[in-house]
Amino acid sequence: MKTPVPSNPVSRRRFLGQMAVAAALVVAPRRSRALDTPPQAKRLGVALVGLGSYSTYQLGPALRSTRHCRLAAVVTGSRGKGARWARDYGFPEKNVFGYDTMEQMAGNPAIDIVYVVTPNSLHAEHCMAAARAGKHVICEKPMATSLAECDAIIAACRAAGVRLTVGYRLHYEPHHAEFARLAREEVFGPFLRMSGANGFEMDSSATTRTVWRLSQKLAGGGPLMDMGVYVIQAACMAKVEAAPVAVTAKFGPVTRPEVFSEVEESISWTMEFAGGAAARCRATYGEEVSNFRAEADHGWAQLEDPAFYYAEPRLSTSRGPVNLPKVNHQVAQLDGMALELLEGRPSIAPGEMGRRDIAIIEAIYAAAKSGRRKEVGV
Ligand code: NAD
Repeated sequence: MKTPVPSNPVSRRRFLGQMAVAAALVVAPRRSRALDTPPQAKRLGVALVGLGSYSTYQLGPALRSTRHCRLAAVVTGSRGKGARWARDYGFPEKNVFGYDTMEQMAGNPAIDIVYVVTPNSLHAEHCMAAARAGKHVICEKPMATSLAECDAIIAACRAAGVRLTVGYRLHYEPHHAEFARLAREEVFGPFLRMSGANGFEMDSSATTRTVWRLSQKLAGGGPLMDMGVYVIQAACMAKVEAAPVAVTAKFGPVTRPEVFSEVEESISWTMEFAGGAAARCRATYGEEVSNFRAEADHGWAQLEDPAFYYAEPRLSTSRGPVNLPKVNHQVAQLDGMALELLEGRPSIAPGEMGRRDIAIIEAIYAAAKSGRRKEVGV
């Protein structure tokens, strides 16, 4: 299946994410109004916040195929665009909200989940508004641009008694889930030596004004925030969702200073785990790359290029290729998260996992800036 190609300069080839089996609930939600209907009796209503590339080409279309949720509302800065979405997806125009009127979603029974798909630095504001409206929250990756923002989102969701999950689609993808099982069951022994990279080539015409991913204020960082978070996820998955104890890191050279005036062009880092395991990782806006390999004493597993993109991932191990069903990542994630809610199960992609990854990212930036090894406090 060919993925529609977005037209903006950053999105020519868009990647895809990951997930495992750790079952930590972000919040222990008290039963919310949204869940008073008997399990399976309804499809949960989703409101998409931000109708940009990912919503338009991936999440919206996926919500036409999901079995346990459907698109019920949108939040957009353009009333006309919202009205077009309402017509296209068949929900009432009263379910089109503005960023400044999100709290009016409170009491709207058609909306169960608010999915925040805006630039990184706006996630906190929009997730907290959704929580105040009493809706469960899915926050796109990276969860926020600082640990303090993550804490504020988690506190708001906890106070409202709603669930918070992060849009880590690959945790619901069969090849990544199998990779997580190999790690969890130590099929080859514990993974000890890992390496991985993720990136795409940013267009040379892109600027901080035209592409928010190049703006420190809006993105919170460069390819580490955007692409590196997938490599961090894979490394933690290989260590059964443990966080590293420390990191070292180095920024790559700036070969296009006119493009990369605010965020890094590339970065490499090493994650050190308890027990001596290590992951050597790289994220870049200079090259299309996407892979991850984990070695243990009795075998290895490798997510082949493109390991993190929307294309079907391929998993090989020292025993040979692993054949698993092909799924649409966004359908799998949305239905997976809806079912977790409907069945009252903890999420496998909770807000605490998003917070853990931001703690790791903060430590990596601190290590790269100082040139010193940095302990990770999660
Ligand atoms: P995009 O630029 O295409 O869309 C962003 C949307 O936010 C637009 O509709 C824009 O109008 C809106 N917006 C609201 N306030 C804004 C402001 N002040 N400045 C700029 N835009 C503003 O971006 P995208 O590619 O859709 O990414 C959105 C989020 O989704 C990001 O956090 C990104 O990391 C994440 N994402 C995740 C995946 C994945 O595979 N999980 C893939 C792509 C993007």
